Amino acid sequence: MPPQPSLKIAEIFDGIQGEGLRAGLPAVFIRLAGCNLSCPFCDTKTAWRGGRTLPVSAVLEKAERLAKSRPDKWVCLTGGEPFAQDIGPLVRRLRGDGFGVQVETNGTIPGLVDVDWVTVSPKPPRYEVREQFRKHAREVKLVVSRELTLAVIARVRGEFPPDVPVFLQPESNLPESRDRAVRLLRRTIASNLTGIRLGVQLHRVYGLR
Ligand code: SF4
Repeated sequence: MPPQPSLKIAEIFDGIQGEGLRAGLPAVFIRLAGCNLSCPFCDTKTAWRGGRTLPVSAVLEKAERLAKSRPDKWVCLTGGEPFAQDIGPLVRRLRGDGFGVQVETNGTIPGLVDVDWVTVSPKPPRYEVREQFRKHAREVKLVVSRELTLAVIARVRGEFPPDVPVFLQPESNLPESRDRAVRLLRRTIASNLTGIRLGVQLHRVYGLR
């Protein structure tokens, strides 16, 4: 028998999506270990290394247990960087089991698979995103760190279809980052850029995971 596909997993938990267009909706979060980048503002540094190797069947079983019998079951594959591992077998099993699958990615590693929702978060210093992610993104998130400028926002805006919103996501909801987000948003309006929105981390506001 061929070996079972497995993945390095940092954690799996039931939560509420706090960011983007799906904010406020329940989801099972599967945080994959490992990332190809090392952003200074990363709030999931613990996922860069380590993690537990689990067979895909065990990950699916846990997701099912957490989602129980919800009629509208969603998982959010996050990290780390989900595409640093071969998530294809897990995504196929999840979708076969009736889960909607959202993936949050930095967009730099090839290997996009058939999922229901792609959230792309381009990262400094290059803010580069592979073409396949530009085509399939449902939303874009830009963390409002010092590196984020109007020129970067304009460039990223131009790389995605006009109906894909670009969220300015304050870094860890810090007041100075929120102020910067508002200033940047005002400048995008003055520059006639469209589809740029302020983001929030609802889970932090509500004290949820
Ligand atoms: S891409 Fe995401 S997970 Fe990776 S280092 Fe940057 S913020 Fe952290």
